[in-house]
Amino acid sequence: MTRLIIPIAASNIDEAEAQINAAKKAGAQMIELRLDYIRNLDTEITVALIDLVKSEPKSLPVVVTCRCSKQGGAIAYQEPFRIEILTEAIKAGADYIDCEYDSFVNLGNQEKIRLALASSIKTRLILSAHEFNGPFNNLAGIYRHIQATYPAAIPKLVYTANHINDCFPALDLLARTSDERIIFCMGEAGLITRVIAKKFNCYYTFASLTKDTSTAPGQLTVNDFKNLYRFNEIDEKTELYGIIGYPVGHSLSPAVHNACFDAMSLNKLYLPILLEGGQAQFDAFINNLNSRKYLNFKAFSVTIPHKQNCLSYVQRKNGKVEPLSEIIGSANTFKFGPDELVSAFNTDYTGALDAITKAGPKDLHGTKAAVIGAGGVARAVVAGLISVGAEVTIYNRTVKKAQKLAEEFNCEFAPLKELENIDAKLIVNCTSLGMTPNIETTPLPSELITKDMIVFDTVYSPPKTQLLKDAKAVKAKTISGLDMFISQAAAQFKIFTKQDADTKLMKKIVTKAL
Ligand code: NAP
Repeated sequence: MTRLIIPIAASNIDEAEAQINAAKKAGAQMIELRLDYIRNLDTEITVALIDLVKSEPKSLPVVVTCRCSKQGGAIAYQEPFRIEILTEAIKAGADYIDCEYDSFVNLGNQEKIRLALASSIKTRLILSAHEFNGPFNNLAGIYRHIQATYPAAIPKLVYTANHINDCFPALDLLARTSDERIIFCMGEAGLITRVIAKKFNCYYTFASLTKDTSTAPGQLTVNDFKNLYRFNEIDEKTELYGIIGYPVGHSLSPAVHNACFDAMSLNKLYLPILLEGGQAQFDAFINNLNSRKYLNFKAFSVTIPHKQNCLSYVQRKNGKVEPLSEIIGSANTFKFGPDELVSAFNTDYTGALDAITKAGPKDLHGTKAAVIGAGGVARAVVAGLISVGAEVTIYNRTVKKAQKLAEEFNCEFAPLKELENIDAKLIVNCTSLGMTPNIETTPLPSELITKDMIVFDTVYSPPKTQLLKDAKAVKAKTISGLDMFISQAAAQFKIFTKQDADTKLMKKIVTKAL
């Protein structure tokens, strides 16, 4: 069982008491007292804080830590004092003390701690090592040294993942071992290790009360663990999914897919995968997963800047590429299996077409369509519209880009200025104009919108853009980017699970988040 432990990082006893009470209320299963945050720390304060954690009605197991500043400690307390605090904590009934392995190898320190532990019936020793700059040179070696030095200790090894591919040594060690141990990565790229630690029965994983009280980079809040990532449901059989992108922290996809997995009681988990770099890093990540079936990653959503990298990977592996994905030149969905087969799909165009046909005409054959923009989304929208026989004109600020796209798809193009003479039934905005924070901007002046038009804005933040407000004002039919987002997510969900998503739930989640 992996416990959720909340660290208490307070500068005085009153602040600490408030945090302890809040942590108990939030559902912490253990509490870590980070005494290196307490100003003017002494043994009396140490005992008082342990008592607060152990006090009823909700007494919790307590880890006492007084971290050295070299390994992330807040106040630079000297080593002899920190060892004294830890031995006092043992006497005061702490369930665990966390001592840096570097301090423990000093024989004087070791003797004091061993002596105190020998006189305690319950305190356990956690021997920890932290590397903030990047992966340890010899992670497995440190693990073995800790076990050899004090076999009853719980080894705790934590390092910063500067890249998602840095997570694999930690995951491999978790997979290879089954002893009591704590192993995970810090940093946004390391976030996945904190969550999937539960698949490997890691002894505990840290959760902060709020983003402000986090004690290490990449630490998730207890609310994120419980509600967004369904921590209680994760077990060794949980299948993994995610969104690969850079950046990825803003993505609504984890909230949407995890909520649908939850509603259908599926043992699946969807994670944000921060993948920095280009094709080489993308290939390395997928190859890393391919050689680690134990992780049970099944499929991904893929976003900027990896949509072309995803398609290229699958093409080079002679995988299965959905024909329109090939035509569009990018893929937003990646799937492993069956066997060694990899597959690429593009649900952006399905999402756009679904959104249009749900709100507007079912048959778009011969419909005059103006696509404003010539970037990635425009590409998918143009491919989708051409595939159903619409007559498309592409308008773009950079005319050369419009021309290139039009030549590829054998349609018309024009500069933005030409929108003055617009002659189209369907208008699709594929630029970022109107998007938060520039919500007052619009790609089409309001006087050019007429009642008989169908106006579709792919921008979904905010859901009601200036363009859609202008269209509504003249009673034109409107389609929100939100509908496209949900349709493409639903199409991905079907690829992931072979089941239909609860699109009403998806809409509720996205609307709430926006
Ligand atoms: P992209 O590849 O960077 O393309 C951006 C497009 O916007 C280009 O055509 C660009 O014109 C144009 N543009 C940017 N600033 C402009 C300005 N100030 N004036 C005129 N044109 C401007 O981006 P993308 O991936 O296609 O995404 C475009 C938008 O689609 C996003 O902003 C997002 O809101 C929306 N989107 C929606 C969904 C959905 O599911 N609903 C999914 C993804 C994206 P130039 O070529 O001249 O630079």
